[in-house]
Amino acid sequence: RLAAEAPRTDLATVDDVALRPKYLRDIIGQRAVCERIQIAVDAAAGRKEPLGHVLLDGPPGLGKTTFATCIPRELDVSLQIASGAALSAPKDLLPYLTNAEEGSVLFIDEIHRLPKAVEEFMYPAMEDFRIDITLGEGMNARTLNMKLRPMTIIGATTRSGMLSAPLRDRFPVREHLDFYSIAELTRIVVINAKKLGLPIDDDAAEKIATASRGTPRIANNRLRWVRDYAQSRAAGEATLPVTDDALGMLGVDQAGLDPQDRKYLSTILRVFHGGPAGVEAIAHTMNLPVDTLTDEVEPFLLRSELVIRTPRGRKLTTKAYDHLGVEAPSEEDAPRLF
Ligand code: ADP
Repeated sequence: RLAAEAPRTDLATVDDVALRPKYLRDIIGQRAVCERIQIAVDAAAGRKEPLGHVLLDGPPGLGKTTFATCIPRELDVSLQIASGAALSAPKDLLPYLTNAEEGSVLFIDEIHRLPKAVEEFMYPAMEDFRIDITLGEGMNARTLNMKLRPMTIIGATTRSGMLSAPLRDRFPVREHLDFYSIAELTRIVVINAKKLGLPIDDDAAEKIATASRGTPRIANNRLRWVRDYAQSRAAGEATLPVTDDALGMLGVDQAGLDPQDRKYLSTILRVFHGGPAGVEAIAHTMNLPVDTLTDEVEPFLLRSELVIRTPRGRKLTTKAYDHLGVEAPSEEDAPRLF
C-alpha cells in the first residue's frame, strides 16, 4: 500500500529504504517523540478519524522521513510523498489532495520551501478538507469549492523558524527531533550491520557511532563504507582496527568531526581570528551555500559546544581551540572597548 514510496530516488537510496525502520517500535531513540506519536495514532485509529496533521523538524538525517513512513503503516493507510521545493503552484499540489484516500497520509518534505500561494491554498484543505479552485481569469473568474476526503498532512522541515505562523498553527502535532546519543547510534549500527550481513565487533560499532555526528543517516553511510573497506581490504569483518583504518581514510577524527567540520572551525580561526564572524562571510570563504552551513554543518557543532552564536556572529569556544590544537586567546588579549 506504500506504493508512493518507491520513486523517491531524490531523497533516499535503495539502501536507505532497506535500513529504514518500518514501524514506530523499530525506531531507536527519540523515545518521547515516539510515545507521543503512538498515543495520537492509537487515539485516531480508535476514533476512526484521520490523525491530526504532524509537523516534524530537525537537522537532516535524524528520522523525519522515517517517522513519516512509519505512521501510515501503523494506521494501515496509504502514503503519498511530495517535496515542498517541487510544488511551485497550487496546481502542483492539487493531484495529491484529490488523490488522497480517506484517512491517508500526504508527506511534504522541506515544507518551508512551499511558495506562499501554495501554502495559502493548503489552509482550507488542512482545516476543513476542502479547497477553493479559481477557474478563468479577471471578470470571468469563478471560484469552485471542492470537498476532499479527510486526510493527514505530515510536514518535515530543517527550519521550523522559517515557517509562517499560520502554517505552523495548523499542525496540532509538532515534534522536534534532536541528535542521537552514542549509545543509540551504536544500537542502530549493530542492527543495521546485521541487515547488511556484516559481522561487527561492539567496539567497532561504537567507533562508527562516535564518528557519525549524532546522525543516523551518517551512521548508515559510515557503516556501508566500513563494510566496503572490510570486504575489499580485510577479511570482511568489521573489527576495531579495520574500522579505525576505514574511518581514517574518510578523514573522520577522534571527536567524529569530518574534514568539512574542521574546515569550518579552522576558517573561523584563521580568517576571522576565532570570531565573531557572520555566517555569510564564513560561507563565502568556504565556498559553500549559506543554507548548507546553517542546516547541515552548524547544528552539530553548536550542539557539541565547539562554536557559539553571538549577536555579532559565530565564535569558537575554548573546546574548539583545544580540538584544533591551538591555544585559546586569553581574556587579556581580547580587544577592549573601554
Ligand atoms: P530525515 O528525513 O530527517 O532527513 P531520514 O528519516 O531519511 O532523515 O533518516 C535517514 C536514515 O537514518 C533512515 O533511512 C534510517 O535508516 C536512519 N534512521 C533515522 N532515524 C532512525 C532511528 N530513530 N532509528 C533507526 N534508524 C534511523
